[in-house]
Amino acid sequence: MSWEMPLTDDERFLMEAFEANFERLREESGRSLAPFIKESARQQVLLYYRRLRELAAQVEETEVRLVLPEQTSPAGRQYTLEGVVDIVEDGSSTVMYDLKTYLDADAARDHVEPHYRQLNVYAHIWKGLRGRQLDKVAVIATRPTRPLYRALRAGEPAKIQAAMEAWAPVLEVPVDGNVVAEVMESFGRVVDLIEDRKFSPPSLEVLKASSRPDGKVPFAQDVCLNCDARFGCASYRQLVRAQSPGRADQALRDASADFGGDAEKQDWRDSGVTATARIDVEDEGTSA
Ligand code: SF4
Repeated sequence: MSWEMPLTDDERFLMEAFEANFERLREESGRSLAPFIKESARQQVLLYYRRLRELAAQVEETEVRLVLPEQTSPAGRQYTLEGVVDIVEDGSSTVMYDLKTYLDADAARDHVEPHYRQLNVYAHIWKGLRGRQLDKVAVIATRPTRPLYRALRAGEPAKIQAAMEAWAPVLEVPVDGNVVAEVMESFGRVVDLIEDRKFSPPSLEVLKASSRPDGKVPFAQDVCLNCDARFGCASYRQLVRAQSPGRADQALRDASADFGGDAEKQDWRDSGVTATARIDVEDEGTSA
C-alpha cells in the first residue's frame, strides 16, 4: 500500500509484536478478526507510531493499572474501579495519557467532557496511589482522522503527508479534583443498573436529542455511531426506520454498510468460526 514506505527497525519490531499479540488474543479468546479489520488495526498502529514516535519514546510506564477498591454505589453495593493509563515523566513534569483507539481527534476536540470526567478520576487515583500530583492529563486519539483516511484511499503521498502533519492526536484535559465525587456517583449508578439487570437502551427521543446540555450533535451521532451493538439495538433500529419512512429495510442495510461489503462481512463471520474451530481442535489434541 502507498502509505507503507519501507519499515524502520522499530516499525518492523512493532509489526511483529502486533502479529504475536493478535495470535495470542485469538487463541486465548477463541475469536478472530476479519482480514480487513485486522489490516485496519495494523494500519492504525503504524500510522499512530509514525505520528507520535517522539512521545512514544518518552513513555516511562505503560499500561499502568489504577485501582480504586471498596467504592459504594447509591444502592449500597461494593465495587472496584479500574483503569489503565500510560505515564510520561521527564524529570520536571509528570503527564498521564489515556489511549482511545476508537476516537477521531478532530471529532473529539470539541467534546472532551466525557474524557475530562474519566481522566480526572484516574488522576485522583494516581495521586492517592503515588502521592504525587500530575502536571498534565491527556487523551491520545489513535484513530486516523477522516482527511487522513481519504488521503490513504486516494493513495497520493503528498496528501497523506499533509494529512499526517495536520493530525493532532493529543487532546489535553484540564485537571480538576472537584469533579471526582460527582463522577464516582454516576459510576455507582451504572453499577446499580448493571446489577439490577436493567439494560434497556435509551428512548428514541434521547437518540434524537443533543448528547450534551449545550451541544448540537445528536446522541445517535455522537454515541451510537461508536456502538458495536447498534444494529441489534431496538432504539437505533427505530431511529433508522423513522428517518427513512417507506424504505426501512433498505435503510438498515445501508446503515450497516460501514461494516464492509458482503465479502467482508462473510470474512468476518468465517474468521470467528475458524478461530473457534481451531481452539476446539487444539483442545481435543491436548486431551487425547
Ligand atoms: S446503539 Fe448503542 S449507544 Fe445507541 S442507544 Fe443503542 S445500545 Fe445505546
